[in-house]
Amino acid sequence: MLDQAQRILKDVFGYDAFRGNQSAIIEQVASGGDALVLMPTGGGKSLCFQVPGLLREGLTVVVSPLIALMDDQVATLDELGIAAVALNSTLSPEEQRDIADRLRRNEIKMLYLAPERLVQPRMLAFLQRLEIGLFAIDEAHCVSQWGHDFRPEYLQLGQLAEFFPTVPRIALTATADKRTREEIVQRLKLENAERFLSSFDRPNIFYRIVPKDQPRKQLLGFLAERRGDAGIVYCLSRKKVEEMAAFLSEQGFPALPYHAGLPNDLRAFNQKRFLNEEGLIMVATIAFGMGIDKPNVRFVAHLDLPKSLEAYYQETGRAGRDGLPADAWMAYGLQDVIFLKQMLNNSEGDERHKRVEQHKLDAMLALCEETRCRRQALLAYFDEVLAEPCGHCDNCVDEVQTWDATEPARQALSAIYRSGQRYGVGHLVDVLLGRDNEKVRSLGHQHLSVFGVGKGLAEGEWRSLFRQLVARGLADVDLDGFGGLRLSDSCRPLLRGEVTLELRREIASKTAKPAGSAASQLVRSEERETWEALRTLRRKLAEEHGVPPYVIFPDATLLEMLRSQPATLGDMARISGVGARKLERYGQAFLDVLQGSAAAARSPADLRHELITLARAGMTPSQIARQLDCSEKNVYTMLAEAIGQQLLSLEQALDLPEDLLGEIQDAFLDAEGELPSVASVAQLFAGRVPEAVLFCVRASLEAEFDL
Ligand code: ADP
Ligand code: ZN
Repeated sequence: MLDQAQRILKDVFGYDAFRGNQSAIIEQVASGGDALVLMPTGGGKSLCFQVPGLLREGLTVVVSPLIALMDDQVATLDELGIAAVALNSTLSPEEQRDIADRLRRNEIKMLYLAPERLVQPRMLAFLQRLEIGLFAIDEAHCVSQWGHDFRPEYLQLGQLAEFFPTVPRIALTATADKRTREEIVQRLKLENAERFLSSFDRPNIFYRIVPKDQPRKQLLGFLAERRGDAGIVYCLSRKKVEEMAAFLSEQGFPALPYHAGLPNDLRAFNQKRFLNEEGLIMVATIAFGMGIDKPNVRFVAHLDLPKSLEAYYQETGRAGRDGLPADAWMAYGLQDVIFLKQMLNNSEGDERHKRVEQHKLDAMLALCEETRCRRQALLAYFDEVLAEPCGHCDNCVDEVQTWDATEPARQALSAIYRSGQRYGVGHLVDVLLGRDNEKVRSLGHQHLSVFGVGKGLAEGEWRSLFRQLVARGLADVDLDGFGGLRLSDSCRPLLRGEVTLELRREIASKTAKPAGSAASQLVRSEERETWEALRTLRRKLAEEHGVPPYVIFPDATLLEMLRSQPATLGDMARISGVGARKLERYGQAFLDVLQGSAAAARSPADLRHELITLARAGMTPSQIARQLDCSEKNVYTMLAEAIGQQLLSLEQALDLPEDLLGEIQDAFLDAEGELPSVASVAQLFAGRVPEAVLFCVRASLEAEFDL
């Protein structure tokens, strides 16, 4: 069976090998067993049900929560030559009837359905009359009531076990935590399912978190190295989303806004543009989320702090689904912390719930202030151990320095205490630095013992210190008031001198290394022209077929074409992602672009230089044409030019029998006055000498006699 699966993988999908758990999962499901698959975004979940679906007799029913996701998958399957349809509310009654007919005639291999539709009694009855080979439940975490994507209809999917006891079921999710996992098993009645748990590491994502200083400027700095890349910028408020989208567009980074307050059609339009165009930036609130299957999102930038590591992991995880290098970048500051704590404080819900949320926020803050490998810390939160530091996050590559902040921290806490535990960071810093301003004076704070004791640190260092104190829970924010700071119970040991405090040393943003990964540039500058040509062709084909570009070929496939320069359809078939159907449909068109741009990619000057070298080396025009990958006509034109400029002699360019050459020369020179045109002598040599040769001879005469 695995042989057969392997063949399908190559012939249909164009891939050479299964990844990670894929083959084990496929074996389990194809042989009729149930499976629970936990795999990170981009891990390749789709193949886990598509391949067994093709291996098994009968229809595969895929449950998917969003129409956008369904349409994308159906388009992808369609391009691969697999009969797939999505049955959803956007179809007309006739279209739905037509699909029902095709299902009855067994003309469809994969059926995508929303859960609410699947569990309708009529639909269940209809499906029971068909031969069903497999049920796949995608985004299975939607069954969890505690999760952010809860969909009540998912709860009813447990019925499938009773209605179709002999049909295998596979549930898939990218949500990692144990509680969700147990809920899926219980509610979907998957007690007998084999569990496949993959690592949740996303090795292609480079993580960086920077202290927020001048966020717009910092973001521009980050984007500067990523011109032309598609990405998502997350902001917390709708207003900020709109302002930031406008700002980025003004700065020459095409950006669209997305938030729940926009009219539905505009939102849908912006989403569609983001999917279908290249290099757009989506500035969004977290409302922009689950429908995003775009595989080539090259970065996710956070301008505001997410409220948990679960959210951070999920949002950053939208970058780099295609496995190519991608960046997760975030700027965060004290205001973020204060804002989120206030939100939490004002939220509905019981104390227990608030405590859970508070813990989640604390974990998020701890990641921000982390001095060791970010990836290790992030995975540890999801109970996964990464043995070595990753070498692919800011902390690993910058080698974060820490410093002993015990004494300044005590001064800071003391300033909070002595000023009455009600002032914000701005004022506290003024006091520590001994600034004699109006507010200080009016409060009489110039008389505090801490006034001016902190001149050893700069303002920015104090701010960073306060932020870290709050992030570590050593100081609390007064949430009912105006964000003043208070001491927390946990700061006592520090104040009493029983413990010391090591903090991150902030790297001044000027001296900081480039904001992202070194690998963020996918394409080298000398490759850019061909790369753009490939993307242009892909865009054109995508428009013709009414699908997003990545459905034609993912970036990884295009990149492999660029690097391996296939010359024949046979070479093309070996490229990962080129299956039989796509080879047949698109192979030649992409070959043409590669070959065309092999010549076009050279500048005219380079090309002429090469031509002259080859001609001098004794190559015939047709050999040169093959070598330079351009037409013979082109070669003759360039030869004539080179001869005319006396860069090349006629003898070097052409190998003509001497008497024929004499005859042609005579024909030109016999005329009175001006040198006749090629057209006027061509008659004499019709069928014997190609016109292109006459052009060369004429050019040599012109040069020789200076005519
Ligand atoms: P997920 O649903 O887990 O986020 P997908 O199923 O969309 O991930 O797969 C992510 C990308 O990886 C897709 O472009 C897919 O075609 C590709 N992919 C999946 N499995 C393989 C494989 N075995 N070899 C090469 N590419 C693969
Ligand atoms: Zn690391």
